[in-house]
Order: sequence, then structure tokens, then C-alpha cells
Amino acid sequence: MKFCEKCGKEIMDEAVLCPGCGCAVNKESEATKVVEVPKQAKTASLLGILSILLLAPLGIPAIILANKSKEKTGGVMCKQAKTGFICGIIGLCWWGLSLIMLLGGM
Ligand SMILES: [Zn+2]
Repeated sequence: MKFCEKCGKEIMDEAVLCPGCGCAVNKESEATKVVEVPKQAKTASLLGILSILLLAPLGIPAIILANKSKEKTGGVMCKQAKTGFICGIIGLCWWGLSLIMLLGGM
């Protein structure tokens, strides 16, 4: 048994609406569940940023790790994974472009 946050009435654990006041009952499991940022996503964002600043090849593991982290966040990329993914692509494109321009200029 749990109690309604609004009116204090006893309600069933599986109830979605409070029978007393009709307000939505917060499911404890969902309310307290904090989506943890997977380690892969954190690494991906770091590698993605580094790929722009230092080494373009780091963009490759950044993109791979960002994709892998999706498995742990329900198929959706979290903010960190997206950062890694986008930075990884920008890093690779940026370095690829500058390489082409460098080679083209010679
Ligand atoms: Zn209530």
C-alpha cells in the first residue's frame, strides 16, 4: 500500500489514478529512476571533442561508442552520446577537408 501525495488516501500499489482525488499517482519506480549516463557515452563525448581538437581518428571510436551506448539507454542516444557522435563526425570531416585542401594546395 502507498498513499496519495495530494490527499493522503490509501491507494493500491498498481493504481495509476488516486480513487480519492483522481490525480495521477507517481509511480515510485519511474519517479526515482534516474537515467544513468553510460560510460560509453561519456567516453564518446570526450573522444568526439578530442577528435576535433587533436586527432581526427578519435572520431571513429567516438561514433562507435556513441552507438553502443544506445543499447543501455533504450535505443536513444543520451546527450553525451550525441555530443560524441556529432563531434566525431565533425572531427573526421574537418580533418578530412583540411587534408584534401592541403593535398590540393601542393
Ligand atoms: Zn488523492
